[in-house]
Amino acid sequence: MHIQEYAALDRCNTLGLPTKARYLIQARCLEDVREALAFARTKQLPLIPLGGGSNVVFSGDLDAVVLRMAIAGKSVVSTLGEHTIVESGAGENWHDLVRWTLSQKAYGLENLSLIPGTVGAAPIQNIGAYGVELKDVFHSLQAVDCQTGGVVCFNRDDCGFDYRQSIFKGSCRDCYVIISLRLKLNRRLTPRLDYADLRDKVEKKALNRELSAELISDVVCDVRREKLPDPGMLANVGSFFKNPEVSASTVQQLKARYPDLVAFPAGERWKLAAGWLIDKAGLKGVREGAVGTHKQQALVLVNHGGATGQDVLCFSEAIKARVHARFGVLLEREPRVY
Ligand code: FAD
Ligand code: NAP
Repeated sequence: MHIQEYAALDRCNTLGLPTKARYLIQARCLEDVREALAFARTKQLPLIPLGGGSNVVFSGDLDAVVLRMAIAGKSVVSTLGEHTIVESGAGENWHDLVRWTLSQKAYGLENLSLIPGTVGAAPIQNIGAYGVELKDVFHSLQAVDCQTGGVVCFNRDDCGFDYRQSIFKGSCRDCYVIISLRLKLNRRLTPRLDYADLRDKVEKKALNRELSAELISDVVCDVRREKLPDPGMLANVGSFFKNPEVSASTVQQLKARYPDLVAFPAGERWKLAAGWLIDKAGLKGVREGAVGTHKQQALVLVNHGGATGQDVLCFSEAIKARVHARFGVLLEREPRVY
């Protein structure tokens, strides 16, 4: 096991924040995870699993053992009736997995194309985009219990999946290191085109090309590239806040004041578009020092270069305060802060 001391993590987080880990270890197999846990215990330090670093904010140096997840491998486990079960190591790149499943004629992940990060992090916040969430195709996962070192299997009902949430981000946070994921995909394509932006572009493209999962995936990639900053060019962690869920009466009151309010039914409650709230509060494309909101999607905070984690957190608190003062709605941060 190779252990790096005082390792720079600047390139291991997509916000490009300057951070050092007291220890950094790569996990390529189950034994590496167990050894890293034992090492962290002897050093009396917490262990932080890290994938692509696209949903974390480092507020300073980490007095911890950072475990970079690199367990590889993907395979078709079985093809039974309507479904294909696939398995992937937690260190695989998420988008590569999406494209590989399509090449296996296994469908269901096309709307989740081009989400940065690793497979192992996908269950943490039940990743979602364009009306599809990981939980829709989730079969099971394997994780190492950080206390015992034993391998535990979680089925869908065990994971407490919710809107950008799971037990791994909630009641069981810091308790497990996810090592592999199984997905139950469909052998027949059922396009999910509820989002107007996506539907329009898919319909246009399908005039010249047969509608296929690859076509939907290509369009999702095009739309995302047009609208969202590429972290390689402009550092960011995607949406900085979750879309807040509010009551029907709150929506009514807000609609009376703001007829163009963007709100969608979410069960018995309503989901407000956080990006719209920030934009309407006059904060789209603004900049304070090295931190700002993106000019095309106000929900994305960007590091123009040289920002620290503290700069990002201060700026995000100012946004929260402004939105709350204007709409009476409290925004909740999406990425995890360390
Ligand atoms: P990291 O940032 O490395 O880790 C995130 C959290 O998960 C940390 O708390 C970490 O400790 C934990 N973790 C990571 N791996 C493991 C593991 N193996 N075991 C246990 N815990 C682990 N998210 C969406 O849901 N939908 C989107 O459409 C979307 N679009 C994005 C677009 C951009 C441009 C960016 C920058 C981000 C976007 N995100 C989106 C957020 C992010 O990509 C996802 O949350 C992704 O799943 C994070 O993966 P990661 O490997 O980078 O996780
Ligand atoms: P968008 O399509 O402009 O939509 C704006 C907001 O309205 C989104 O937050 C979306 O909610 C909601 N919405 C739009 N159409 C909807 C419908 N038919 N039903 C229910 N809700 C609807 O958003 P965008 O910024 O370009 O992002 C596109 C997709 O990628 C979204 O699903 C978004 O969540 C996802 N994304 C996520 C991240 C992240 O870091 N978490 C970053 C970039 C993009 P939802 O967010 O609930 O889908």
